[in-house]
Amino acid sequence: MIDCLFCKIVRGEIPSGKVYEDELVYAFRDIHPLRPTHILVIPKKHVASLAHVGPEDEPMLGRLLAVAHDIAVENGSTDGFRGIINTGRIGGQEVPHLHLHILGGPGPVGPMVERE
Ligand code: 5GP
Ligand code: ZN
Repeated sequence: MIDCLFCKIVRGEIPSGKVYEDELVYAFRDIHPLRPTHILVIPKKHVASLAHVGPEDEPMLGRLLAVAHDIAVENGSTDGFRGIINTGRIGGQEVPHLHLHILGGPGPVGPMVERE
């Protein structure tokens, strides 16, 4: 996607703090970190959200999750992390290119969501 922010990051047209890359996914530091460790893992291929995946995306989705723990450890969250995938309006997704947030320590991330 020509105008997609995260596609531009994958193509190197916008600088990012890359922490990992393979043939399916790309990971970089969130520009406004909410925790000491805050990394985004995204597919290299443009996929708008989890509402837009198909069976052909299963290898990418598996990789997205499979690399998360090592990325968390290598970036300072050595004893666990939280993975979040905001999806669509209700999920509060702001950038329409699928991304896994890796939020981590050194301290605990805190409550999952506020109770209604
Ligand atoms: P969302 O709300 O869509 O789940 O999360 C989007 C995330 O992308 C936010 O945490 C935001 O800080 C991050 N972000 C937005 N624009 C940029 C950018 O240009 N570079 C980087 N590294 N992160 C960005
Ligand atoms: Zn994109």
